[in-house]
Amino acid sequence: MKIICIGRNYSEHAKELNNPVPDQPVIFSKPETALLKDNKPFYYPEFSNDIHYEAEIVIKINQTGKHIQEHFAHKYFDEISIGLDLTARDIQRECKEKGHPWERAKAFDHSAVIGSFVSKQTFPDLNDINFHLNLNQIRVQEGNTSQMLFSIYRILSEVSKFITLKKGDFIYTGTPAGVGPIKSGDHLEAYVEGKKLLDCKIS
Ligand code: MG
Repeated sequence: MKIICIGRNYSEHAKELNNPVPDQPVIFSKPETALLKDNKPFYYPEFSNDIHYEAEIVIKINQTGKHIQEHFAHKYFDEISIGLDLTARDIQRECKEKGHPWERAKAFDHSAVIGSFVSKQTFPDLNDINFHLNLNQIRVQEGNTSQMLFSIYRILSEVSKFITLKKGDFIYTGTPAGVGPIKSGDHLEAYVEGKKLLDCKIS
């Protein structure tokens, strides 16, 4: 199982981090050991002082796919959830400055928090899904999949040009504006169309 993530897929988020809006999806990955599921707590690691939440719609791949055509991309997933692409922003800043890969900032243990999944049939239009994140009961991020620079279907097509997708893989589809730091004692709750799918306490 692998975790593929898309960066800078919402223009307002690219702008808030002073990044250019990309003309093709920014792709990176996290190892299986990054996964944190079943609403388990996240233990703040000692190597960073600036870990940020990034709430993102996540899809779960249901069959092997290579060179998936956008038109057929809907056949490669049945379920959707919401996840947190936890990011050590201080380390990412260093990596960017040095031109280094992002793994130390993005791929650390439990950096891919995942909620429970719901059938995609729940949603009349996958390009019009509302989602939001609460931090300590206050809404800090909200987005709609219509605001994605690259749609879910386009992402599947682009990623599978380079990486064979397999059953059980997750794709994090990028975060809208409003990212920010977490600290010990915080409580994160993520919702898709008003239904809470993820609950994570920071320890
Ligand atoms: Mg992200």
